[in-house]
Amino acid sequence: MVKSGISWIYGVIYDRAGYNHRMFEFNITAKNNRARTGKFSTPHGDLITPVFAPVGTQATVKTLTPEHLKDINASLVLSNTYHLYLRPGDELVRDMGGLHKFMQWHRPMLTDSGGFQVFSLAQTRKIDEDGVTFKSHIDGSTHRFTPEKSIQIQENLGADIIMAFDECADPNDHKYIQKAMERTHRWAERSLQARTRQDQALFGIVQGGVDPTLRAESAKFIAALDTPGIAIGGLSVGETKQEMHDTLDVVTPLLPENKPRYLMGVGTPEDLINGVLRGVDIFDCVLPTRLARHHSAFAPEGRLNLMNASFARDERPIDTTCDCYACQTFTRAYIRHLIMAKELLAGTLVSIHNLRALIRLMEQIRGFIAEGSFESRIPDLLGQWDNNAKRKQQTKGN
Ligand SMILES: [Zn+2]
Repeated sequence: MVKSGISWIYGVIYDRAGYNHRMFEFNITAKNNRARTGKFSTPHGDLITPVFAPVGTQATVKTLTPEHLKDINASLVLSNTYHLYLRPGDELVRDMGGLHKFMQWHRPMLTDSGGFQVFSLAQTRKIDEDGVTFKSHIDGSTHRFTPEKSIQIQENLGADIIMAFDECADPNDHKYIQKAMERTHRWAERSLQARTRQDQALFGIVQGGVDPTLRAESAKFIAALDTPGIAIGGLSVGETKQEMHDTLDVVTPLLPENKPRYLMGVGTPEDLINGVLRGVDIFDCVLPTRLARHHSAFAPEGRLNLMNASFARDERPIDTTCDCYACQTFTRAYIRHLIMAKELLAGTLVSIHNLRALIRLMEQIRGFIAEGSFESRIPDLLGQWDNNAKRKQQTKGN
């Protein structure tokens, strides 16, 4: 494979990282200042950006089938390397034909590097220059991740988009952040070296906490690696909203225009709007499905706690403006009954609705960017979703 310069081989262009250009092409179709809409091509189909990815931690989006996901127009699903490595094991997934075939999701998939979960879930962990040794949160057994191991696992899983191994440090631990960022850069280089498959887009990850100088340094370093896309890590981990916005304002202007940007683990509807405004293309978050399992639904009048007695005889759907199966078919009264009777269908219906609400928001935003009106609509969009956040506080304890 060609490793330097752009070359033609058998009529296909490969860049210096050895990627087939057409496979991971990103075409921006419209821009409103820093917000963009475009198309990112992957081996399992195109992602129309900006895009929100439901999270399928254990090779399943909790309570939903792939058919449900197709019905709500999900295009990208994220799965977690740490979890699948521990159970059922990445080699088993490989032997079963890879993640797409194993879980019967044939649209694009993304896996994280496992780093974040090692730092947030594993019972004990010891980090050194070479990697991290940790104990499984399932049975306490000892394991070790290195950049090379993370890439090997992700190659066995076989997602379309994979991540370099990184260290996500506490954003408020200013002394440690620089050390973690520099290590993340060395690990990104090792991750790239370890890669053997050409049909997976390996994204480098920008770190640096909430320090603008470090973030700028990290953005430039990762951009220079020339990966087919760039992830922004270490946000939505305890910093303020203002710090997240300020960090994005430093990072995205330093990234190449023609590569998709993925803001990891973010976030709330407000975060999606603010992220797109600052030039982010890809998001994922467990929030919609986690809320659903706690009976909380996005709605125009605010986030609803469907356990609330006021819904016992409510004949309306969760959201009269929503086109999802749950809203087109069932009343709030019925869904509340399912919740009170502890029926599993409740989680499925509210998950369908909450995910569709965010996917619909992204569809709306793409339309606004295409017609050039996104920026002028921000106050309305934020007002609508801010109302959701406020309502949640008002109904708390009811
Ligand atoms: Zn709905």
